[in-house]
Amino acid sequence: MEPDYQAVLEQVAEDIAPQIGHGRPAEYIPALSSVDPRRFGMALADVHGQVYGVGDWQEPFSTQSITKVFTLALALARGGDSLWQRVGREPSGNPFNSLVQLEYENGIPRNPFINAGALVVTDRLHGLTGDARGALLDFLRTESGNDRLDFAPEVAESEAGHGDRNAALGYFMASCGNMHNPVPTVLDHYFWQCSIEMSCADLALAGGFLARHGVRADGTRLLTRSEAKQVNAVMLTCGTYDAAGEFAYRVGLPGKSGVGGGVLAVLPGRATLCVYSPGLDARGNSVVGVAALDRFTTLTGLSVF
Ligand code: GLU
Repeated sequence: MEPDYQAVLEQVAEDIAPQIGHGRPAEYIPALSSVDPRRFGMALADVHGQVYGVGDWQEPFSTQSITKVFTLALALARGGDSLWQRVGREPSGNPFNSLVQLEYENGIPRNPFINAGALVVTDRLHGLTGDARGALLDFLRTESGNDRLDFAPEVAESEAGHGDRNAALGYFMASCGNMHNPVPTVLDHYFWQCSIEMSCADLALAGGFLARHGVRADGTRLLTRSEAKQVNAVMLTCGTYDAAGEFAYRVGLPGKSGVGGGVLAVLPGRATLCVYSPGLDARGNSVVGVAALDRFTTLTGLSVF
């Protein structure tokens, strides 16, 4: 029997209320630093598409790195597992935008969720579709059922203006032969990809295929069951920056966070959750977002373990 999800979310919101406002919004992307750190929203979409929510669950926010899950799924769906020759699937143990490991490992990023790995995935998706950011936006609109989803040009431009480190990652990988499109093109698609704004409800619905073992909202298959398991596994081990161990320990679900303050989490076979609160901890994860997911799995006893 399913729990009363709405009642659980309301309990979670009450329990985490004292922590709201903790943490600091991302400062290295100027357009993100001005958001109100007291915002909080949480939504759950069950595998049938029923959505429950509390707080600012219908307010759009900057998805940032959460989009990396969707580009990975699309690149695997369209291009198959040869992607794994260009990017690994081990936790990096380094910050998401670190350069050091790439040189030791000959331009093959540790996993698709650190920035270097995400650039490879965007490059691959661009090669497969001719329009990586467009393919991503189409997919997100279709799966969420929200045609109004869009890029935020001011965020993409702000990021491009402060994107020297991502550019360094891209050019270094190009020097190793691991960028197949021109680096400026890949960076442009990556920055626009990260700027897409979605609400907790939109993200929970769009990630539904991860809870449905690869099946899209319309019943067609995006990923094989095995590929859906693989994406969830990489989320669990690598999805929350250099704190995936702590996230697995506290929450016990595959998850992907973004510096916009969102966290997407998957309860395979049951539901997808998304929390938003812009105050980040030192590792870049939403303080209240992780606390809320921790509370959800503790109250319900639902996790992958
Ligand atoms: N667009 C951000 C960057 O590349 C994404 C960071 C994130 O959410 O982890 O720096």
